[in-house]
Amino acid sequence: MTNEEKRKLITELQSQGLKLANSDHAASTVRPREASTARSRGVSGRTGGAGPSDHKAITVDGTTVMIPVYNDIAADSPYSVGDIDELPQLSLQKYKKAIASIEFPQQPKFYNLKTADGIPYNQIALLHSNNVLATTVLQTCIRYSNRNTACQFCAIEQSLAAGKTIAKKTPQHLAEVAAAAVELDGVEHLVMTTGTPNTTDRGAAYLIECAQAVKARVDLPIQAQCEPPNDFVWFSKMKKAGIDSLGMHLEVIAPEVRDRIMPGKAKVSLDYYFEAFAAAVKVFGWGQVSTYILAGLGDSLETIVDTCDRLIKIGVYPFVVPFVPITGTPLANHQPPSSEFMYEIYSQVGAMLNSAGMFSQNIKAGCAKCGACSALSTFEH
Ligand code: SF4
Repeated sequence: MTNEEKRKLITELQSQGLKLANSDHAASTVRPREASTARSRGVSGRTGGAGPSDHKAITVDGTTVMIPVYNDIAADSPYSVGDIDELPQLSLQKYKKAIASIEFPQQPKFYNLKTADGIPYNQIALLHSNNVLATTVLQTCIRYSNRNTACQFCAIEQSLAAGKTIAKKTPQHLAEVAAAAVELDGVEHLVMTTGTPNTTDRGAAYLIECAQAVKARVDLPIQAQCEPPNDFVWFSKMKKAGIDSLGMHLEVIAPEVRDRIMPGKAKVSLDYYFEAFAAAVKVFGWGQVSTYILAGLGDSLETIVDTCDRLIKIGVYPFVVPFVPITGTPLANHQPPSSEFMYEIYSQVGAMLNSAGMFSQNIKAGCAKCGACSALSTFEH
């Protein structure tokens, strides 16, 4: 597969999803080890949560990416998985014709463990992609329960309501799980995100406690993700606690799109985000601060590309991902962006990253380093 073919394929899969026609069949006909993989990562996968919900990790031509499989879009996708008797290699089909082989990463070994007080490790943190440990330290958010403030795309409390996770991960639990995930599964970095608590630090103080405990136990690069705190002194405290890189996520950009899609978070102005980015880059370094941009929720190509240009110029990596509708959210029936729209964004933003010399692989930890929720990194040199 050429680079060009791979970029196009990943971009299309992320926009159109992958149909798993008969998931129960998939789980029941694979060999025992793969059966648990199919159940945990293929069949149950990730539904709900703050990250790539309704997605599944799939390796295409050596690159692991998150592809929507559990929403209505995926059910209508032209892409499907063929016979599974060649595990771990599966056949990726388009309109029922084999076009490539894919693999599902193995279920991590740390999922088999529990804390001394009986909490399964996978309720504390999950494997994302094939080498990232990801956790939502606070699984609740001040904005979530009120439709006037909730971000319309977010499912942060769904997995909590479903009993798949716990509301607050303690620093000790996180350290224990991180150590096991490094030792048993070779994870290479940790993403710690948080719902926004009702405190002016926006979760920074708790992320610091968690990072300190993890770093005291295991040498694992950490990215923290939160809203911009009230006082930028939190950035130095976070860095001192062992947090290596920082994500503050714009999500959407134009004022009317912000008001419509995230009416609560829109009260934090774009200007304030940019002040926070500049302050954070001084602490974490050029290219070690990143932001998520969800394409497909109303921002034009020009708005997204211009904002990425502005971000790169101040040292922030713009991690552009296609919006994926999540079952159970107000945007469950919103169409994802077309693959043509995404391809054009990636081409233009990829060219800017290349000319700035800002590369995802140089980020110490985090979503932009992982890259699995986007095809952007395949457009980097
Ligand atoms: S990009 Fe972030 S949210 Fe997506 S799989 Fe990687 S670590 Fe998880």
